[in-house]
Amino acid sequence: MINVLFAAKAERWPEYEAPLKAAFEAADLIVDLRMDFPPEEVDYIVYAPNSTVQDFSPYTRCKAVLNLWAGVENVVGNTTLTMPLARMVDPGMTQGMMEWVVGHVMRHHLGMDRNILGQNGDWTAHVPPLAQDRRVTILGLGELGSTCAQALAQLGFDVTGWSRSPKALADVTCLSGEAGLTEALSRADILVLLLPKTVATENLLNAERLALMPQGAMIVNPGRGPLIDDDALLAALDHGQIAHATLDVFRIEPLPLDHPYWAHPKVTVTPHIASETRVKTASQVIAENVQRGESGLPFLHLVDRSAGY
Ligand code: NDP
Repeated sequence: MINVLFAAKAERWPEYEAPLKAAFEAADLIVDLRMDFPPEEVDYIVYAPNSTVQDFSPYTRCKAVLNLWAGVENVVGNTTLTMPLARMVDPGMTQGMMEWVVGHVMRHHLGMDRNILGQNGDWTAHVPPLAQDRRVTILGLGELGSTCAQALAQLGFDVTGWSRSPKALADVTCLSGEAGLTEALSRADILVLLLPKTVATENLLNAERLALMPQGAMIVNPGRGPLIDDDALLAALDHGQIAHATLDVFRIEPLPLDHPYWAHPKVTVTPHIASETRVKTASQVIAENVQRGESGLPFLHLVDRSAGY
């Protein structure tokens, strides 16, 4: 019997219990899945950072902590966590992010707001350019960024991507390093941020880097709020350097009611809904990792603790 502790908010249990049990069964694993175990009896922890488990040291026989979310910034620095930590890479979440990013890029590319919001008798024609004449830059070419980059490239956009290590993706200009970032930003008519929050990425989009972007560029941020220096972005919006920012993630969530983003005419706020872990596919990913652990195979999607993602 494999003991799996579900360490997430209690309200998640009803939605995850049956799909996780079904996924373990489909993987031929005999699992006791519960929200409560004596810590020393737990083999795996299915984890969400807002759970009651903050001290991992009593979980002496635990083989891995399997995070339910893609972002690990709230757990990766926990010094009591000495066992392997896997993040969530879920096909359902990836598909959702691709749809959200393509939708918001298309909104800005086609200038949809003008017609949706401006039904005022103005017949002035603003024909949008073709995708091939629009440059989109994606910061972060991981599971989510690379899928979005390739979907946009397939639509014909001129796509540039930037990551920490060099990459090669069909029909995407891939850059890395500080010089690569300068070039990637200078090509960003539309910029999409899909970086994790780490020490190295915090405030990455500051005033200096915003100034590298083309005048009138647009920003779409489904990555993490702290990637952007908020004051610098507000200044760039007010000066017209940045024409619009669509922001899904913030330093404080829910975004406080008095935050200037809410009322800013050039900002669209969405409440951290770009994509989320999809219960059925994520349960299959968890079961696969437990199966690998039981077979002595390396876990999938392990977090590099030193890099922070
Ligand atoms: P991955 O770990 O697969 O990819 C991260 C990418 O960022 C990699 O390409 C990585 O480079 C790059 N990167 C990390 N640090 C740096 C750095 N210092 N400089 C340059 N590039 C860097 O993550 P995912 O694609 O799965 O997810 C990305 C983020 O999206 C998550 O961390 C989370 O914050 C956010 N997210 C938001 C959601 C929402 O609903 N708003 C939902 C899900 C995720 P390299 O390839 O070289 O390692």
